[in-house]
Amino acid sequence: MADSRPVVVVGASMGGLRVTEALRKSGYAGPITVIGDESHLPYNRPPLSKDVLSTVVSHEAVAFPQRAATANVDWMLGSPVSSVDVAAHTLATADGSTREWRALVVATGLRPRRLALPPLAGRHTLRTLDDAMALRDELVPGARVVVNGSGFIGSEVAATARKLGCEVTVVSSNTLPMERALGPVLGAEVQARHEAHGVEFLPGRSVVALLGESRVEGVVLDDGRELAADVVVEAIGADCNDEWLAASGLDLIDGVLVDPAMRAIGLDGTVHSDIYVVGDIARFPNTMFDSVPRRVEHWNIPTDTGRRAGAVLGAYLADDGSLEDVAAQSFTPMPSFWSNQFDLSIQAFGMPGLADPDGVRLLEGEISGDSITGYYRSGRLVGVVGFGMKAALMPYRAQIAAG
Ligand SMILES: Cc1cc2nc3c(=O)[nH]c(=O)nc-3n(C[C@H](O)[C@H](O)[C@H](O)COP(=O)(O)OP(=O)(O)OC[C@H]3O[C@@H](n4cnc5c(N)ncnc54)[C@H](O)[C@@H]3O)c2cc1C
Repeated sequence: MADSRPVVVVGASMGGLRVTEALRKSGYAGPITVIGDESHLPYNRPPLSKDVLSTVVSHEAVAFPQRAATANVDWMLGSPVSSVDVAAHTLATADGSTREWRALVVATGLRPRRLALPPLAGRHTLRTLDDAMALRDELVPGARVVVNGSGFIGSEVAATARKLGCEVTVVSSNTLPMERALGPVLGAEVQARHEAHGVEFLPGRSVVALLGESRVEGVVLDDGRELAADVVVEAIGADCNDEWLAASGLDLIDGVLVDPAMRAIGLDGTVHSDIYVVGDIARFPNTMFDSVPRRVEHWNIPTDTGRRAGAVLGAYLADDGSLEDVAAQSFTPMPSFWSNQFDLSIQAFGMPGLADPDGVRLLEGEISGDSITGYYRSGRLVGVVGFGMKAALMPYRAQIAAG
């Protein structure tokens, strides 16, 4: 008798959408349920810290187009999954109901890390559309905004808030903005570009307390200094949404460990052909670089891992003997990210963070203008970052892929 249990995808965002599309493309026509805790159908997050945040924030402005492939999918929105039973093939949602699954896809991504401080009005993070709407309402001209953290999101929010006429101070435990991703030379250049637009940086500092009764009036730094603030944006990193998997027996050391076919791996080494993991939460090996499994928090990864998982899961469900052949195909996605801050357009390929400490070289242009910087590990190009010069980056992208 045919198995009538659905494939259940947990996480109704980009990774969940892409795996669903790919599963249909593989030929699987059975039931699919996508369960998400947000109330919105999948939407694109990058504009939330860039163009959309500087205009009107709405679901229409960022929603992914619904393709015909996902017309026949059951979307359960506003419904957090609280636990899973791998042996029984069931999961529980926060309203107490239990659902069966034939195969499970984990696509629950990340959430912002928070400061352990009182929940005053005026504190913000930026991960979801609702976050962006709430923050946008408070980024009014003249507002004093403290951005805590100078990674991608902190730097982008600082630029957007400044463009909206806010007084912006970036407080960060790092020495330079985006230093972990770009290295010190480009990090210093990012800071210089921000400072030219009036953003102030307080590096090597952290926020230890808030001022105000019910609403933020300021922050206290670890050196005792106080800064007046109407808005505090916490951009200090993100944690995996994996608590619902706590009893699953899967390897959750940093996200969920998978094999190159995106199949979940248990703490005992078992490869689960009925459980797949995609997007920011997946820790997978990429032999373009080495065999070390890593999580990669870039926009192309939910698409690449979603397509891969959909194809392999489709072969598993077809049960026609093709699974191991499909799973054995090589999977070497090219990490890629971009960022826009003021008039600076950053595009990167590969994994610049893997470079040797002395492996960062200017390849073309000038740091203070448009430039291409290469990142080398043991003499091999593992990453490239362009400030402008998008077209000229492509040969380096090919060089990274060639190994
Ligand atoms: C503001 C912002 C700007 C960005 N800009 C860029 C950029 O310029 N370039 C770039 O390369 N990348 C960028 N990114 C990163 C990129 O958007 C992410 O890599 C991508 O969104 C990851 O997709 P995902 O589907 O894996 O996870 P997510 O998008 O995090 O989706 C996971 C979904 O699962 C839901 N969920 C979590 N737990 C549960 C549960 N228990 N039950 C049900 N649902 C649950 C979450 O609420 C969420 O809807 C940006 C991210 C943000 C937040």
